[in-house]
Amino acid sequence: KLVCVTGASGFIASWLVKLLLEKGYTVKATVRDPNNPKKTEHLRGLPGADERLHLFKANLLEEGSFDSIVEGCDGVFHTASPFITKYTDPQAELIEPAVKGTLNVLTSCAKRPSIRRVVLTSSMAAVAYKRNAQTAGAVIDETWFSDPDFVRESQFWYVLSKTLAEESAWKVAKEHGIDMVTINPSMVIGPLLQPTLNTSAEFILNFINGAETFKNSTLGWVDVRDVVNAHILAFEVPSASGRHCLVDTVVHNSEVVKILRQLYPNIQLPEECADDKPYEPIYKVSKEKTKSLGVEFIPFEVSLKETVESLREKKFANF
Ligand code: NDP
Repeated sequence: KLVCVTGASGFIASWLVKLLLEKGYTVKATVRDPNNPKKTEHLRGLPGADERLHLFKANLLEEGSFDSIVEGCDGVFHTASPFITKYTDPQAELIEPAVKGTLNVLTSCAKRPSIRRVVLTSSMAAVAYKRNAQTAGAVIDETWFSDPDFVRESQFWYVLSKTLAEESAWKVAKEHGIDMVTINPSMVIGPLLQPTLNTSAEFILNFINGAETFKNSTLGWVDVRDVVNAHILAFEVPSASGRHCLVDTVVHNSEVVKILRQLYPNIQLPEECADDKPYEPIYKVSKEKTKSLGVEFIPFEVSLKETVESLREKKFANF
């Protein structure tokens, strides 16, 4: 059982590598800089890594970078894609690596008949962003596709990168007859394995590091352990196909603060919303398809608490 994980040093991919090793897989893991201990030490230390983890250098923007790495693999988990909030050139820093990277990886996969299936880490960003989509009472499911024009107008550049990447992935998969399944998580939290701070954990850090206000926004949340479990089931369950929305719960930021206040009555938490507009509405995301894969959901309160504990342990939280 030989599989490849791209972007292995990332938050989600580190957990994916861990679970794959636990399940007895041999893993070819790609990283941008194999000589940077911050990106690799936590992977090398995973149980089973000495025997069954092999690190390779690859970059999303280099054509052919993944060609020889995916050779001989039964499956490929393509997780690498920039998830950053600070950038100067969204086209170069977000959209190109996401879209070209996905095309690069899939083109390499198309050349290797041993690959049974590709699991793509897409996002709810590619599902839930169209005009009047996130309205009160809406129930979003796998049939929804974000509208690139709406996303472009809104200047949600990360959302655009994921929307365009998934769109072109389906096109290439169809062209080359690749069996591809996508996992579409909302904001992913849970304990960090890697020593660096990833963007979705930073969203939680922003609540607990002394901010006076919270943003007027409503987001979906899911635990990283459920996300990686879904990836592996999507590979292992023969009948799995298409897209899988992965959202445990959708809450307004005011609710996140409320839960944090119950968990940590003694820390300073934001007292009020940053604007006085009506709160962004709560919508629903269907769990049916993902549950049919066998995925269970860790409750948001548990994930939130373990994220905060992890941020404290790693000294990102200043309390
Ligand atoms: P991280 O930032 O922790 O991981 C992103 C990974 O992508 C890193 O390993 C990074 O490598 C790699 N990467 C970025 N640019 C390049 C490049 N040019 N070449 C090679 N590798 C590159 O984020 P997450 O773990 O959160 O994200 C992983 C995936 O999950 C992404 O596809 C993201 O869009 C998706 N996702 C994440 C969600 C979340 O809330 N966290 C929600 C929904 C989807 P390096 O370490 O070298 O920077």
